[in-house]
Amino acid sequence: MTADRERALLRKVGEAIHRFRMIRDGDRVAVALSGGKDSLTLLEALLRLARKAPVEFSVCAFTVEQGKFLRPIEPLGEWLRARGVAWTYYRDAPSFRLLEQEPDHGCDLCSRYRRRAVYEIARELGANVIAFGHTADDFCEALLRNALFTGKLSALPPVAWSRQKDFRLIRPLVFVTEQLTAAFAGALGAPVIPCGCSQKTGTVRRSIRDLFADLEQDYPHLKENLLSAMGNLDPNRLLDNRFREDGDQARPAAAAELLRVVTDL
Ligand code: SF4
Repeated sequence: MTADRERALLRKVGEAIHRFRMIRDGDRVAVALSGGKDSLTLLEALLRLARKAPVEFSVCAFTVEQGKFLRPIEPLGEWLRARGVAWTYYRDAPSFRLLEQEPDHGCDLCSRYRRRAVYEIARELGANVIAFGHTADDFCEALLRNALFTGKLSALPPVAWSRQKDFRLIRPLVFVTEQLTAAFAGALGAPVIPCGCSQKTGTVRRSIRDLFADLEQDYPHLKENLLSAMGNLDPNRLLDNRFREDGDQARPAAAAELLRVVTDL
């Protein structure tokens, strides 16, 4: 990992934090470590930024075990402890019961269980912000998946609130590609603990990943362009009348009547 790449990573994380006001003075940020390269990169980037950022914030980390890791978690704990990181490991008993009772349960149930555990741990850690390691790749894939399969032009929220508004949920790797997190985590020598689900093939996610990989051979800046597009909407060239200049409010009564007649046909 060259110093240039490291600077690029910190600049991109800093830009996301600044643009979306992710972190504020006095925040305690809990990083959700999934065991993968992305969240490890996020943790390290936040630790480095906390040392030199103009705002004061503290960083801790935690991992929720839901019975899907393919390797023992201990090496990760040892590595974090050696670096002086405050890390909490939480074996989520309800998730293990779910795995026993419904081994083929889907992502909806699994992520609902994880969300409950994440909030519980963050509360115990005294955190008011929870940071997730979703990358630029995840944002681009989500955009395509939502547009193609749910009929909605949306990706992921860079900042959101938990339902009770007690936690700010942030995704500071929004501008960081997985090419960069792989290089950074590799250079750190961090032990990556793979999740069984990441090996699944034949899923929609896998197809979209393959599509990107194919296109990126000829168009290497595809994801940068998609990220720019997400921050540069032209509502007049889309079909949502709530945001078009001549949208619902501007439609004359005669046109509304014509629409009613046509839809009654
Ligand atoms: S991919 Fe696996 S770990 Fe992730 S939400 Fe789905 S079932 Fe859970």
